[in-house]
Amino acid sequence: ATAQIGVTGLAVMGRNLARNLARNGFTVAVHNRSPERTRSLVAEHGDEGTFVPSESLADFVGSLERPRAVIIMVKAGAPTDAVIDELVPLLDEGDIIVDCGNAHFADTRRREEALRAKGLHFSGTGVSGGEEGALLGPSIMPGGSAESYAKLGPMFEKIAAQVDGTSCCRHIGPDGAGHFVKMVHNGIEYADMQLIAEAYDLLRAGLSASPAEIAEIFREWNTGELESFLIEITAEVLGHTDAATGRAFVDVVLDQAEQKGTGRWTVQSALDLGIPITGIAEATFARSLSGHAGQREAARRAFGDAGEKWQVEDRDTFVEDVRRALLASKIVAYAQGFDHIRAGSSEYDWDIDLGGTATIWRGGCIIRARFLDRIKEAYDAEPELPSLLVAPYFAEAVSAGVPSWRRVVVDAARAGVPTPAFSSSLAYFDGLRAERLPAALLQGLRDNFGAHTYRRVDRDGSFHTLWATEGRSEVEA
Ligand code: NDP
Repeated sequence: ATAQIGVTGLAVMGRNLARNLARNGFTVAVHNRSPERTRSLVAEHGDEGTFVPSESLADFVGSLERPRAVIIMVKAGAPTDAVIDELVPLLDEGDIIVDCGNAHFADTRRREEALRAKGLHFSGTGVSGGEEGALLGPSIMPGGSAESYAKLGPMFEKIAAQVDGTSCCRHIGPDGAGHFVKMVHNGIEYADMQLIAEAYDLLRAGLSASPAEIAEIFREWNTGELESFLIEITAEVLGHTDAATGRAFVDVVLDQAEQKGTGRWTVQSALDLGIPITGIAEATFARSLSGHAGQREAARRAFGDAGEKWQVEDRDTFVEDVRRALLASKIVAYAQGFDHIRAGSSEYDWDIDLGGTATIWRGGCIIRARFLDRIKEAYDAEPELPSLLVAPYFAEAVSAGVPSWRRVVVDAARAGVPTPAFSSSLAYFDGLRAERLPAALLQGLRDNFGAHTYRRVDRDGSFHTLWATEGRSEVEA
């Protein structure tokens, strides 16, 4: 038994994670249900480090030093349970199973509880960054016991992306915490991408600019506050020309997106926790809308294409308006995502460090961005911050952007350019800051039709108005 850690499931992700571990000097046991993958890994990359290949799960487990640490990197869902069931009889008390697949945090909580009862540790670990991240340094979000992290931490922190000397891996919290945070990360990714897509659409409509011209604008934006991986690759994708037709690549791609994954989980969980994550939800729904080709066709026939011809008066002002609106909307999406993490942490007793979470997204993952440093600073300065929006740096960026934000949303509505994420983020901002909300009327209506009672601004207690009586007197409920 010589391997420090094992990986079972050697498709793209597992293979690259195993290589990353080996390249960093760890002895890695490797196994896959179909042995061809194990053989090809060793044949093609065996010289990158020390691999201990096994063709049976029993030999694989036998090759691990104790306490054993086994990473499962298989298709999420039933295959993960199947592999856990096969592993359990081969393991001993104190051994650690790590699920690095994209599991739902509720499944992770269930698995952790069941394995804890058997004396095993279960670490549900979120891994972001796709196959390239897995090989070169992902963002790693491990959940599970502190004891399991004592063994896994040094290895994971070493193979994760490093930014300014800090590893993009840290222990998130017990049981489902790691997969929960990974889920919200993906939700934020949905919002970030939708906002970028809307910014592109606005620039295209308002400036009648070509994708290549818009690529230049994004390239420029990537030198400032918006600097991020997603903005960088937006410039790359918009600047790309389709070889077959010579047209802009973005114009030959079908405009229908799917939302089968973690965006949906994020929204479902936020509804359960009562957290308004409008940016992520609108982004998820925008993808669904795009996919309803039949309805879109019917509506286009019924109403024609949207809006008036739009030509902005001043190009530079408009570009700066869109930039500011994008930044403000993006801050809203992150503020909502962090509210969601805080709510999950409190609901499930995870004690998640919000600023620390921002730190590990600075590298290795899709939403890596300059602005994550500011989130860390905000939570360091005030751990109980009621919303990221009110932290000084973000409050200033949002305030400075409000006039631009309003102009962009108004002009887009007038021109018939859909901006669900831009406009709902603005509505969220206005809702949060409003002195009075029409929720008072909702409460009145609910009391009228269902005697649901209401509270008053001037006295404590719950009240009900006797709507059907002549004097409509009020009683204390
Ligand atoms: P896949 O999700 O395509 O899964 C293929 C692997 O699962 C193969 O090793 C396959 O073995 C194994 N497998 C499937 N069913 C079983 C079973 N019943 N018993 C044993 N093994 C089984 O692989 P990926 O590498 O793309 O992803 C792995 C995990 O990582 C998934 O959970 C995915 O969601 C997650 N992930 C993926 C990312 C990505 O960018 N691809 C990013 C982050 C996470 P066999 O070779 O024998 O068929």
